[in-house]
Amino acid sequence: MHCVIVGASHAGVQAAVNLRAQGYDGEITLISAEKVLPYQRPPLSKAFLQDTLPEQRLWLRPEAFYQQKNINLMLDTNVVGINRQSQTVELANGQCLAYDDLILATGASVRRLSIAGADLKGVYYLRDHQDATGIKQALPKVKKVVVIGGGYIGLEAAASLRKMGKEVTVLINSQRPLQHLTSPGISDFITALHQQNGVTIVTNTMAVEITGDTQVTSVIADNGKHYEADMVVAGIGVQPAHSLASGCGLNVSNGIDVNGFMQTNDPHIYAIGDCVNFAHPVYHKKLRIESVQNATDQAKTVALTLCNKPAPYNAFPWFWSDQYDAKLQIAGLSAGYTDVVVRQESEKSLAAFYFVHNKLIAVDTINQTKSFMVARKYLPQLPELDKTLLADANIPVSDIFTGAPQACLT
Ligand SMILES: Cc1cc2nc3c(=O)[nH]c(=O)nc-3n(C[C@H](O)[C@H](O)[C@H](O)COP(=O)(O)OP(=O)(O)OC[C@H]3O[C@@H](n4cnc5c(N)ncnc54)[C@H](O)[C@@H]3O)c2cc1C
Repeated sequence: MHCVIVGASHAGVQAAVNLRAQGYDGEITLISAEKVLPYQRPPLSKAFLQDTLPEQRLWLRPEAFYQQKNINLMLDTNVVGINRQSQTVELANGQCLAYDDLILATGASVRRLSIAGADLKGVYYLRDHQDATGIKQALPKVKKVVVIGGGYIGLEAAASLRKMGKEVTVLINSQRPLQHLTSPGISDFITALHQQNGVTIVTNTMAVEITGDTQVTSVIADNGKHYEADMVVAGIGVQPAHSLASGCGLNVSNGIDVNGFMQTNDPHIYAIGDCVNFAHPVYHKKLRIESVQNATDQAKTVALTLCNKPAPYNAFPWFWSDQYDAKLQIAGLSAGYTDVVVRQESEKSLAAFYFVHNKLIAVDTINQTKSFMVARKYLPQLPELDKTLLADANIPVSDIFTGAPQACLT
């Protein structure tokens, strides 16, 4: 048997690791388009960007691990096509590899700016090791940075660059940072946090042009202002990397469509991680989730399926973000909430609990790890909670959750 895995990041590496842990004794080939050893992506906008994490600590596994586990790791290798009839993948060098089972773990790729000046020197994105290294190398000559985008990546980049002494302006084309991801209370807290640290946050403002001869000098916004910049970092979202899947006729919608066992409409092809669109068993809707947790847990599911121990995916989503001294922890998905309860335990901490009527569906916490841990434990049961008690920071959060009735979303 031969399992070929395309993409060697959080999802692909974990799939290989779990296949061996579950007793898969066939051949495993793990293919990466990138030149460096498979690495953790979250530090790219945090400790690695700030130069407080040495490169060796980025690697998901040491090089020797792949040899020890008999995993054939192919770096700097692009898969350019899949032939489902012959069960082969085609590599960019023309070579073909036969598979019995194929796992697509191709992740997501950054959405690029399409405004004038977007190709000037000094315009960066932050998705992979090469992007982060490029930013780090350019930084010594940089004083002023304009970050375009107020999602997690933009905000983390802003915090890291500010910590490194740069003058940072963040242009956000919506009313508030994290607008589509969180509630106004959390956004306000984050805005204040950045402002206290000296970052200029400009909302309701779209970048329309980047100026400069060869090197960026400013960003022009739709409010008519010019924001001086020696560097632009754009964090304007990602799109699922599903061209291999669509190119061979697999079903694709917002990502590669898979069932609860991570299987596509071809019984020999599976897909996991950021590139996948799947029906979530608790939220009962199709989702594409961009997180390490999701990539890792889907990798476990596919390994169990391939080792004849099938167990449908039922993990609950969680995520984190670090900005200055604030640790954001998010569990569940708040989209569609009808009520939000805010719990403030101190000046530097906040939690927002999201409800659909009386059922808790998600929580965002900032420096409130206890609330996060308790909520994360109970959230899959969608507990019904007393909102007044939850808002009272004097009542221990665990007392409120213990014994709460369970529900389900219909
Ligand atoms: C800067 C940054 C910070 C983040 N911070 C957090 C965080 O704090 N918490 C969190 O939970 N998540 C965070 N994320 C998101 C998290 O990193 C992703 O959800 C996770 O990496 C998804 O893993 P994946 O394996 O599905 O895809 P990816 O990590 O996107 O990896 C896909 C890999 O497949 C390769 N590939 C694609 N196509 C081919 C091909 N045809 N041939 C060969 N190889 C191919 C790509 O080059 C890439 O290496 C962050 C992401 C970034 C970029």
